[in-house]
Amino acid sequence: LHQYLHGDESGSSSSSSSLPSIILAGPSGAGKTALLTLFEKRAGRKTSPSSTDEKTASGAEPALTHTSQTPVSVELNAASFSSSDEDRKPRKFLLIDTPGHPKLRSTALNHLLPLDPKTGRPLPPSKTSHIKGVLFLLDASTLSPSSPDSSLSQTATYLYDLLLALQHRYSRHSKGSKHPPSIPVLIAANKLDLFTALPATLVKKELEAEIGRIRVSRSKGLLDSGVKEDVVDEKEEGDDWLGEYGSEKFEFRQMQEFDIEVEVVGGSVAGTEGPGVEGWWRWVVERV
Ligand code: GDP
Repeated sequence: LHQYLHGDESGSSSSSSSLPSIILAGPSGAGKTALLTLFEKRAGRKTSPSSTDEKTASGAEPALTHTSQTPVSVELNAASFSSSDEDRKPRKFLLIDTPGHPKLRSTALNHLLPLDPKTGRPLPPSKTSHIKGVLFLLDASTLSPSSPDSSLSQTATYLYDLLLALQHRYSRHSKGSKHPPSIPVLIAANKLDLFTALPATLVKKELEAEIGRIRVSRSKGLLDSGVKEDVVDEKEEGDDWLGEYGSEKFEFRQMQEFDIEVEVVGGSVAGTEGPGVEGWWRWVVERV
């Protein structure tokens, strides 16, 4: 028995790390835990690392409760979502949750652009070849700039950092070696069941405008501070400029230049009035 348990444990951990994976990111309160719980309920197998409170049977209680400090990954079956799918051959992948708190966001970025702890330089892209996409979840009901507690600024800031990390992953590996496999981004506009929620087209527009503003202020910051570090000298012009260099307006399609596909799709994890999560699930299973 001991041998069996031991073998099973080590076997599952090594196979888990090589499973195709989707990174779940987004600011706190976007609904990441709720989404993970819903996906797990409908297509899940098990959680890792083992959660202390797996009250899956009780409906009212979320299947996963985590302190948003410890990333949780859920093993899901891409061939199963509704009960009619259950007979199909299982196709496993991982959905890796990452903390949304501003101080802990490096967790998600480190998944996408892991750095060598000794040199601080990016590790080879082969280290990220299991990552098939990023699901960036946001709260569309508070995104409007006129919303009393607008989440636009902090949501766009996080998305800006994430897209820039992906752009660096592409551009900083170009010399001599081939480009890493692309990691597409799904911007999942959540809470569309609420009447204050912006539809996906407006979510896209507001985010592009805000990211454009952030891009300008960051580039001014670079010039004003007169940064003269060694690393800056090595970089090519425009390395820290997100999207098309020198362009006036930011648009998500500028990321195609770096082989990054960005899509905005609306949905809802909770509530009965909303469009649900099917669109996001479809995007995910097409990529794992
Ligand atoms: P996290 O910080 O990203 O993990 O967000 P949570 O999963 O904890 O969700 C934050 C809050 O938003 C919770 O109260 C959820 O019940 C609520 N929530 C999540 N998704 C939806 C949705 O689609 N519609 C509505 N109305 N509320 C939602």
